[in-house]
Amino acid sequence: MAERTPRAAHTEAADFEPVIGLEVHAELETRSKMFCACPVVDSTQAEPNTAVCEVCTGMPGTLPVINRLAVEYAIKVALALNCRVAPLSVFARKNYFYPDLPKGFQISQYELPLATEGSLEVECEGDKKRVRIRRVHLEEDTGKLFHRPGYSLVDYNRSGVPLLEIVSEPDMYSLPQVEAYARGLRSLLRYLGVNSGDMEKGVIRFEANISLRPKGSQGLGTRTEIKNLNSFRAMINAIDYEIGRQSELLAAGQPVRQETLGWDEARGVTVSQRGKEEAHDYRYFPEPDLPPLEVAPEWVEAIRQQLPELPAQKRERFMAQLGLTPYLAGVLTAEPEVAAYFEAATQADPRLPAAKIAHWISGDLFALLKEHGQAIQDCRISPLQLAQLVRLVEQGEINISSAKQVLAEMFECGADPGQVVERLGLRQISDPRQIAPVVSQVLADNPDQLQAYLAGKRTILEWFFGQVMRLTRGRAQPSLVRRELERQLGEKEKNRRSP
Ligand code: ADP
Ligand code: MG
Ligand code: ZN
Repeated sequence: MAERTPRAAHTEAADFEPVIGLEVHAELETRSKMFCACPVVDSTQAEPNTAVCEVCTGMPGTLPVINRLAVEYAIKVALALNCRVAPLSVFARKNYFYPDLPKGFQISQYELPLATEGSLEVECEGDKKRVRIRRVHLEEDTGKLFHRPGYSLVDYNRSGVPLLEIVSEPDMYSLPQVEAYARGLRSLLRYLGVNSGDMEKGVIRFEANISLRPKGSQGLGTRTEIKNLNSFRAMINAIDYEIGRQSELLAAGQPVRQETLGWDEARGVTVSQRGKEEAHDYRYFPEPDLPPLEVAPEWVEAIRQQLPELPAQKRERFMAQLGLTPYLAGVLTAEPEVAAYFEAATQADPRLPAAKIAHWISGDLFALLKEHGQAIQDCRISPLQLAQLVRLVEQGEINISSAKQVLAEMFECGADPGQVVERLGLRQISDPRQIAPVVSQVLADNPDQLQAYLAGKRTILEWFFGQVMRLTRGRAQPSLVRRELERQLGEKEKNRRSP
């Protein structure tokens, strides 16, 4: 059999189109767990097995109690996804054995989920892409296993943490669409304040369902499901690989087997874990220890009233009200903290063009934040100070390259831009009377270049310009320097022609 070339293969199989559906697991960051009073702790920080009790470790005779705030968070998400919230939903036991699941079953929702029939619209490659949401349901997270050579350790701190499962319809047909949807969902969860979005901490995990079908057909092919994808990169790479693998099978006339796969990050391949489990394998039945979950319509309405402005709305508003391009509006609304920073800066000085502020944030400020591994909410430059800096540039008090220098200095020390400009002596020279002597000096100091210019080598003007800027350490206002150079060189020509 021919060697497979990962990632390139699928582009060759032009007669097939990928169809992708995503299941997203998001922890709900409430104070306590889903069915007990244990705190929800940062699983990368807390000592193992310190946030556990009889309930979340599945001791016999204990009883679960539904966390009201977790339900409220779930309703928030459901509403933001335009779902229908069920007035009555039911918790069910999903039975299976695994060492990270001490009860031997997970409390989830099955036949009657909390919410159904929603959608999320995201921006993808300049177009709007709508992905339908099949269901949103509540469940509990499992513990965490740490495999060591010859044995494994288990930490139950995560066991029973509220988990929201958001299941899409198979509505995505390309990798950019999947990525836009997944990032859009993360952004939404962060705006709603229900999830930190810290992917490294595993608070959002993906499962991807992939099938192929002949281009132009409407049916669905046999799918495989890739479990436990913990980063955008892993998800995209795994789906890309899987599209390639299925393409090759179909191109060779072989069937795709419906199965559950894992992603081997190191080798960059999907590996078969088991044949696809069916619902009946889990012996779902209604959780006898919990009443049905009744959600009063008034409660849903109250939550709807409190929904914040969501990323898509904010993006539209930034374009309509502040004149941002679709691209910049997208960049500035992806994270709620960035959007808040930008808005605070525009409000600090409403006379400034918002697009200028947007450019300073998405360009130089983002670069500094990235370089220092800092989040914008921890930045020492306040939105007001950023607006002040942009104003100095707009008023011609400092030039762009000085402003970049000032920004870097502000980033370090947190001082006002005016102070930094004075301290570094960067105020732009915009008085022609200060520029004229520098121009005269440059012409006098470089007689050879002057001769060449007068003999017709006009490009030397740029060189003179550079010299003046160098002598003024970039502070001279460029348009004034040019005007003065042209004036003095004009004089010299006149003098030469009429001695
Ligand atoms: P489960 O994986 O638990 O069996 P479902 O059968 O409801 O649950 O499917 C889960 C996900 O698989 C959904 O996101 C759905 O969009 C997606 N899906 C279902 N069929 C296909 C298919 N043929 N191709 C791609 N995705 C699919
Ligand atoms: Mg599934
Ligand atoms: Zn507990």
